[in-house]
Amino acid sequence: MNIVGALERTGCTVEPPPYVSQHQLPFRRLHARKYTFSRRRGVSIHAGRQLDDDTWRMAAKLLDALLPQSCVLCGLPDESSALCSRCRKVLPANGRCCRRCATSLDAFTTDDVECGSCQANPPVFCRAIAPFCYAFPVDAALKHLKFRRRLLFAPLFANLLLPVLRRDFADCDCLVPVPLHRWRHALRGFNQADEICRPLARASGLKMLMNVSRRQATRPQSGVTAAERRSNLRNAFAIRGAVRARYPLIVDDVMTTGSTCNELARTLLDAGAERVGVLVVARAAVNSGNQAAAGTSLNV
Ligand SMILES: [Zn+2]
Ligand SMILES: [Zn+2]
Repeated sequence: MNIVGALERTGCTVEPPPYVSQHQLPFRRLHARKYTFSRRRGVSIHAGRQLDDDTWRMAAKLLDALLPQSCVLCGLPDESSALCSRCRKVLPANGRCCRRCATSLDAFTTDDVECGSCQANPPVFCRAIAPFCYAFPVDAALKHLKFRRRLLFAPLFANLLLPVLRRDFADCDCLVPVPLHRWRHALRGFNQADEICRPLARASGLKMLMNVSRRQATRPQSGVTAAERRSNLRNAFAIRGAVRARYPLIVDDVMTTGSTCNELARTLLDAGAERVGVLVVARAAVNSGNQAAAGTSLNV
């Protein structure tokens, strides 16, 4: 039953969900997934991941048929998607933005312009797209995903990224989730970029490049200049073997200064890629040095 759709069809005005005024996502129980860390296989889901994709798809179809789907943000039942139209309307779209790095621009600028930072210091990736700004409720959902293991938000974001991938990155030939350092990966139990990337790969048929690793844990970035931040990240990534892709697409949850994606793109280009694209869920605003410094802590 799609309550929101039914109300809209009868001509009723649908109010924004109540969590918007409270500025807090409603509490939802997290489905538990067990993770293990093994030296040989890296971090993997302990239970269930051994089943092949077809079995998972059949199980998902069966569950969809038996259980009514509800919106992951407000909890209202909705048959058509995991996000009801009421919640979809309150997502902060990243409208006018730099065509190179997706940073939000003045509403009066014309389309297809690059921001001053990209003009002065062009990033090595050819294009970055972030469909949303890092603002409520997207920021809250990303924090819940990362720090409270609310993994149900990962397929939701993948669903929102899929049309962008098909429209703007149709020539890409593989997906590269931004890796976490192995210690952070082991402590968290999962990598949020992997979790968002996996349903994207399944839906688009693209391969995930998993032979990229992070050599060093990110040092505290607060109070450092952009140049120091870049030098902190220099050689942060390593690739085992060759990259058999001409146009890999980096996938991550949030982009703040773009230094992490830029360094990973540089590593991919050095390994043989011809050009690199970036697709992230949200773009955080960077207006001052302090905000930039604080913002980099989002990329953990
Ligand atoms: Zn909803
Ligand atoms: Zn830019």
